[in-house]
Amino acid sequence: MSKLIIANFKMNGTKSSIQEWFNVFSEENSGSNKIIVALPSPFLADFTSFRISIASQNVSSYDSGAFTSQISAEMLKDCNINYSIIGHSESRKFLKETDEDIFNKYNQLIKHSIKPIICVGEPLDVRENSSFLDFIVKQLESFKDIEDELIIAYEPIWAIGSGLVPSIADINEVSKLIKEQCRNAKVLYGGSVNKENASNLLINSNIDGVLVGGASLDPKEFANIAQSC
Ligand code: PEP
Repeated sequence: MSKLIIANFKMNGTKSSIQEWFNVFSEENSGSNKIIVALPSPFLADFTSFRISIASQNVSSYDSGAFTSQISAEMLKDCNINYSIIGHSESRKFLKETDEDIFNKYNQLIKHSIKPIICVGEPLDVRENSSFLDFIVKQLESFKDIEDELIIAYEPIWAIGSGLVPSIADINEVSKLIKEQCRNAKVLYGGSVNKENASNLLINSNIDGVLVGGASLDPKEFANIAQSC
């Protein structure tokens, strides 16, 4: 079955380097997996004419008004953006976002027919205390009774950008838990995915796709990941 392969550029790139990225990626990728690229906000509207879906990296939890620096779901929809990452650990950390904020963002996106990509994942100290499953359950509490299809990315914070990747058994354990909590969830894994480990992750675990940060910046490497299953 087709997998979901998401690139998260974070705060990297310029209009011309991203244009070049799309040119190279489109030439290199001939696979049939669904591709989504999460771009920095200033470039979101510039790349919606490619056959690749574009995601924002965040959205406001408010409709409109005096929220300097924020971008509303209505604005994203107006720019033909159909996906948005919410709850990324870097936004939770640097913007002090709470689970409640993230649920409000979810509702804003749904109101404007944008598909949320909800990130969850535990920090290292929680993983070492072995209470991490409870931690994930708590992050998902507001999403528990939602019948619509959800996209949930399990991104253990200690695996992001560190080169560390949980075992397939560990990923399967969390993926199963997420699917028990949210019946119609597609579960992605994110954290140090690269061209060397992607096919093992995608073929041997029960995940529905991957969310790729650092390794997505190289269009050839990302094309390799996109075609690894
Ligand atoms: C991320 O930040 O969502 C991520 C998965 O990063 P990386 O692939 O660089 O670990």
